[in-house]
Amino acid sequence: MSHVMNTYARLPVAFSHGQGCRITDVDGRDYLDALSGIAVSTLGHAHPRLVSAIAAQAGRLLHTSNLYQIREQEELADRLAELSGMQEIFFCNSGCEANEAAIKLARYYGHRKGIDSPTIIVMEKAFHGRTMATLSATGNRKAQAGFEPLVAGFVRVPYDDLEAVKAIGRHNKNIVAVMLEIIQGEGGINLASPQFQQGLRQLCDDQGWLLICDEVQCGMARTGRWFGYQHAGILPDIATLAKGLGSGVPIGACMAGGRAAGLFEPGKHGSTFGGNPLACVAALTTIATIEQDGLMAQAESVGALIRRLFAEALAGVRGVREIRGCGLMIGIELDRPCGELVGKALAAGLLINVTADRVIRLLPPLILNENEARELVDRSVPLIRDFLAS
Ligand SMILES: *Cc1c(COP(=O)(O)O)cnc(C)c1O
Repeated sequence: MSHVMNTYARLPVAFSHGQGCRITDVDGRDYLDALSGIAVSTLGHAHPRLVSAIAAQAGRLLHTSNLYQIREQEELADRLAELSGMQEIFFCNSGCEANEAAIKLARYYGHRKGIDSPTIIVMEKAFHGRTMATLSATGNRKAQAGFEPLVAGFVRVPYDDLEAVKAIGRHNKNIVAVMLEIIQGEGGINLASPQFQQGLRQLCDDQGWLLICDEVQCGMARTGRWFGYQHAGILPDIATLAKGLGSGVPIGACMAGGRAAGLFEPGKHGSTFGGNPLACVAALTTIATIEQDGLMAQAESVGALIRRLFAEALAGVRGVREIRGCGLMIGIELDRPCGELVGKALAAGLLINVTADRVIRLLPPLILNENEARELVDRSVPLIRDFLAS
């Protein structure tokens, strides 16, 4: 019996190494990776620039402490501030930690305004993490069941419904922030309309609320912009990052600007590992490689190609509800639960995912090229057609 705690229904495969968008299992079988370990492996596997940067840093220093200055962390904060329009950044190790920092920041902001029970508006189908506060912010009853009492201070509205947010603001005087994913990942690749985003920005300004964008999955150039909110031309007060930031080295970030900047002082928040030299070098190298190799524009064009090829190949196929997404964050919604497609794809040498029961989710590395994109579509379409015909 395994001594690993039973928190994941794991597929019967273990990998030994990878190269680019290919990954090889312990028996020597190759797979095309269209998932990137859930939007993590931005630069694919064993990217030479990342490998040498990590190796060089490991030979100098892995860890010091946030009790000292960390040059690599300062440099990364500068780069992220420049790319995001935010002013200051707290570093941690994961998405839920980045969101915990965001939630604490919003509550602290409320207390400073004299609101004793600060409340954050969150969305249906949202996913913000598995810690108690982020689980409470998550809009999935199945994930929450058995872990009550949940953390108080969240109210939920339907996604992409500005009127619902406004209605809460009219009677609830404890609201301090609105928190959302610009594109919901776990919830099924759901896109917020530009009007919703711009309306939220305006509403938050009018009400003195903070706008918090959870960019953990849709950030870091995956959608063809550095951050999802940049498509609609808005600037949140807080944005959180993790997943693709370090291309596989764990690192998270909570970025604050506008009214959310300058709130914390020493002693209010912290992390032992957060922003260590190794993780920061991985993130700096990820950013530099995205820039130097034009991976953001590539994510946009290759993503559009994948959606177009799927739309052509699946046109008129009964059971295909919608093909949607942005850049290399792609969902194919079917009319029925399709979790079994993950195992079928695996057997066919393809790593994909299914989320929200009936949405095939593709999150390939940003280095995916056009030939690999065509291969991905050519190999997935027969699986989807067979599944829907059975
Ligand atoms: C994955 C994810 C998280 C949680 O990240 P962890 O690193 O697993 O804690 C939070 N928000 C979004 C949008 C995510 O996709």
